[in-house]
Amino acid sequence: MPDGSIIVTGASKGIGAAIVEALHTRGKTVFSLSRSGTSPVGYALQCDMTDESAVQKAFAEIAQNGPIEGLVNNAGVHLGSPSKSLPTAEYEEVMTLNATAVMVGCREVYPHLTGGGSIINIGSFFDRMGVPNNLAYCASKAAVGAITRCLATEWAADKIRVINVAPGYIETDLNREHLSRDKVRTWLKSRIPVGRPGTPEEVARLVTALIVEDIPFLTGETIYLDGGHGANH
Ligand code: NDP
Repeated sequence: MPDGSIIVTGASKGIGAAIVEALHTRGKTVFSLSRSGTSPVGYALQCDMTDESAVQKAFAEIAQNGPIEGLVNNAGVHLGSPSKSLPTAEYEEVMTLNATAVMVGCREVYPHLTGGGSIINIGSFFDRMGVPNNLAYCASKAAVGAITRCLATEWAADKIRVINVAPGYIETDLNREHLSRDKVRTWLKSRIPVGRPGTPEEVARLVTALIVEDIPFLTGETIYLDGGHGANH
């Protein structure tokens, strides 16, 4: 694989920012994309991942800097509603960023991965669960697993590996308020065998290892990182 830049989407905070820091520490050149255009380290570009032309423009700009080695599709949104009154607009908003933008990101980075490379999509362990009031989010993350499997089979011949990293509960701005409730804390402690939510740094270490170790036979897979939560009876 060429030693090139890694693009991380949704990298202004939370899991994305931790991934950028971990990749930077391992000596990688990292480009962070987000709507605010900020990043803890490395280069930052403003890019709304739901805007196809903005994505094309950002990737072309990054390619001018040298070869691109990988993409981490991390930008995501969580919205929840009871399914009986789930507004179509809310369903579409979640699907547009969490699923469609992942497909667009993969498709648009493909022509830049001329020497092969790694695509890591950030899914969720909700992809295999039935979670009340989370229909749109669960459907969007199940789609990420399917997108990952299809692209892995199509692009293996191009030496492009596509992997879905599916975290369990990770404390970030996405859920901090929800997780701070005593009832939720107690419930999580009882449900997660490891006894606590995960940290963005733990997800970042896995994503970085997958990119840096570059194991050619590992592709198409969903890797769960949830403290044993999904496996718990
Ligand atoms: P945060 O809400 O903390 O951060 C989301 C990031 O995405 C921000 O950097 C935000 O930056 C960016 N973003 C949002 N919308 C867009 C957009 N349209 N275009 C570009 N960037 C955008 O989320 P987390 O760090 O918690 O989540 C990151 C990923 O991990 C998501 O895909 C989420 O579904 C997944 N995940 C999270 C879990 C958790 O428990 N936290 C569990 C399982 C999966 P800005 O506002 O500047 O655009």
